Amino acid sequence: MSCANWETLLAQLQQTEVFQGLSMGALRTLSAHTEAITIAGNTSLLSPSKANHYLYILLQGEMRVVHGPSESVPIAILKPGSCCGELSWLEEQNPCAYVISNGTCELLRLDQGALNDLIQASPQLCLNLLRLLSARLRLSNQSLQNSERHANIDSLTGLFNRRRLEDIYERESGRCGYDNLPLNLLILDVDFFKDYNDQHGHIAGDFALMLVADILRRELRPTDSIARFGGEEFVILLPELSARESTSVGKRLRKRLASTTEFHCPMGTLPGVTASIGIAQMRTGDSLISLISRADRALYRAKEGGRNRLCRA
Ligand code: GH3
Ligand code: MG
Ligand code: MG
Repeated sequence: MSCANWETLLAQLQQTEVFQGLSMGALRTLSAHTEAITIAGNTSLLSPSKANHYLYILLQGEMRVVHGPSESVPIAILKPGSCCGELSWLEEQNPCAYVISNGTCELLRLDQGALNDLIQASPQLCLNLLRLLSARLRLSNQSLQNSERHANIDSLTGLFNRRRLEDIYERESGRCGYDNLPLNLLILDVDFFKDYNDQHGHIAGDFALMLVADILRRELRPTDSIARFGGEEFVILLPELSARESTSVGKRLRKRLASTTEFHCPMGTLPGVTASIGIAQMRTGDSLISLISRADRALYRAKEGGRNRLCRA
């Protein structure tokens, strides 16, 4: 790189996350091993299938870090002053994600050997790299937590999914069994939901399921667990309530749904839905499946009895 260009870049480099606080003298040692590059939009700079031997500093433009080249939600967005490639360069492994330019980008490409020399000479560079790595670690922990959360949550209603219900049942059945407290389970199935979809469309059906979820959330205690068990079936765990109390909770839910004869959503005004409910109380030795099976038999009777009603096992 020419001396004139390089001198103007030095001040800029001192502002970047990896080189901040380094002396001009230290940075000058990189001059012979640095190349300025320009890449067009949508170019994959780093990819898990390509070995990387450089550290890149973004000077102009914006880049996205993604797990897959066509993924629309990025793990991170890189702005001028950020760097990339440091993980693969330090570990001598292929990159763990794609780094793709969002538009035309100007970058500095730094050679591995020169950086290794500078690391030996500059504790400040080591500190910057450690800070950078711990920020990367924090980001990766966050994205792990988010994906675990998503694995437990039903995306349509925001309620727990079946997998999470199994964990909650393990915990609540153990706790209630140990403390000799009752645990009741309700299974709620929307009535004639196939007809609802047929008449109003599947999207309207989705809004109706969201309505059911909202009503359940509003009507229940924070200690109750509500899960979307399958398509139009919901399972509710009511810890510490007697059979009688749980029955009145179930009746209240049924009534609240039946009295919501219409609701507003982005599609306009839609009719509400009714639901049938089966309830069973946990017995010693019950698994989630055995408890649900008893509640399901009660639900079947509620359906047979005409729907929009509640039966106990
Ligand atoms: P019943 O009163 O006996 O429960 O009748 P039903 O029509 O509700 O029961 P059935 O099992 O015949 O149909 C369930 C319907 O639920 C069929 C399916 O298309 C619909 N469904 C399941 N999941 C979803 C969903 O996520 N969104 C929408 N809109 N519909 C769903
Ligand atoms: Mg059903
Ligand atoms: Mg149904």
